[in-house]
Amino acid sequence: MPIATTNPATGQVLKTYEAMSTEQLDAAIERADLAYQQLRGTTVDQRAQWMNAAADLLEADRDEIARIMTTEMGKTYVAAQAEVTKCAAACRFYADRAPAFLADEPADATAVKATRALIRYQPIGVVLAVMPWNFPLWQVMRFAAPALMAGNTGLLKHASNVPQTALLLEDVFRRAGFPEGAFTTVLVGSDAVDPILSDPRVRAATLTGSERAGRSIGQIAGRELKKTVLELGGSDPFVVMPSADLDRAAEVATTARCQNNGQSCIAAKRFIVHTDVFDAFAEKFAANMAALRVGDPMDSDTDVGPLASEGGRDEVHAQVRDAVDNGATVLCGGELPAGDGWYYPPTVVTDLRPEMRMWREEVFGPVAGLYRVSSYEEAIEVANGTSFGLGSNAWTRDEAEQERFATDLDAGNVFINGMTTSFPELPFGGVKNSGYGRELSALGMREFCNTKTVWVGDGAAASAGAGAHAE
Ligand code: NAP
Repeated sequence: MPIATTNPATGQVLKTYEAMSTEQLDAAIERADLAYQQLRGTTVDQRAQWMNAAADLLEADRDEIARIMTTEMGKTYVAAQAEVTKCAAACRFYADRAPAFLADEPADATAVKATRALIRYQPIGVVLAVMPWNFPLWQVMRFAAPALMAGNTGLLKHASNVPQTALLLEDVFRRAGFPEGAFTTVLVGSDAVDPILSDPRVRAATLTGSERAGRSIGQIAGRELKKTVLELGGSDPFVVMPSADLDRAAEVATTARCQNNGQSCIAAKRFIVHTDVFDAFAEKFAANMAALRVGDPMDSDTDVGPLASEGGRDEVHAQVRDAVDNGATVLCGGELPAGDGWYYPPTVVTDLRPEMRMWREEVFGPVAGLYRVSSYEEAIEVANGTSFGLGSNAWTRDEAEQERFATDLDAGNVFINGMTTSFPELPFGGVKNSGYGRELSALGMREFCNTKTVWVGDGAAASAGAGAHAE
């Protein structure tokens, strides 16, 4: 894939970049490693000052950063501005909470025959971050803020279609005061991931992206014995039960499906509706979807901008055509628009069956699959009947049912009477083919920490460990 900025609203290539040479890449890894030696010796208070300065810069440059994001991947300018603001808040969150998240945790010294025992969280070194274009700032920041606050350094291999966003991220951390090399963008293709992760100076990797990329990086990391966090795809269920507030459910369902022009891992993709309210919900939902304004992402009246790439749009349309050709019914949308830009209309498809692609695959565009079920048990069966397990949503005012959904939905999160979203305060991640590991909260920070056991005795025979168990 060429490293280039191509405006999805017009299809025009605006800027192209040469991939780094092997020598340039080696120098970047060396800088990141040297920066780690320096950063690990700084205090958490010092790093918090730099992280707060990064938040200030993001806020000051918000509109320009948002314009670049919209130009590179097509999200609406309004959504891009909100993304920058969210990133600044995450920087402040980790600047504020890192001292507590990284503080020594005392353990029961008597039980382990020590005079003092504790758990200490320490950085592990250079972490490679392979990131996607769909939330080009947020996906990176939710790795970078906790990782840098812990004293690690970051090497960013961003998606090839968002090079300007990738470079501005490096610039923000440098201007904020972090040591040279603490956060480095490497402009390389995905073929460079193997040599980077095989380099002994790189200690771990985090990937947010497709299942295919996850399998590839997981294999390399397995061979190299390196820690990974994998945030992969999803085909999240959005279950609507008879007691739900249908107007509100249909409204939130529309946002949950079409946020980010339908290109979110945690977008609700499969709408599983109890037969008692199916027709009423379907009518409201299809009407809301059809009423969304599709157009220029820079226009503040636009709800849905173009998809990020022509190939991505072709894939979405092929998935819809496959369903229709095999007997599915389109309630709205489903036609490729004429004209420039990679636009796709909000679409609702029903009468789906297991042999159709839409049943099994993630659809990365504003296309909803609508499923009719006749009981709680069937709703759970369809909801969990996927290889993914990222987010999940259920709408019901029945408290006993809410509890059941919270337990029975097989996913990394469950949102009841709402839509899946990410917060710095809460862990984020998936199960099954949606990946493993967690981002955000204290857990996200500790994924890339050495959780070190510290045991201090007085050297006396009873406590020195001699003669105790071998392991
Ligand atoms: P993608 O093709 O996997 O690309 C993501 C990143 O991985 C890019 O930097 C890409 O580089 C790189 N990459 C691609 N193939 C690779 C390989 N074989 N080895 C190493 N690196 C590789 O993903 P996408 O289609 O652009 O993004 C959408 C996917 O990401 C969806 O499945 C979505 O659900 C998922 N996603 C998950 C989360 C989450 O938190 N779980 C969040 C957002 C998105 P190039 O650009 O150079 O190819």
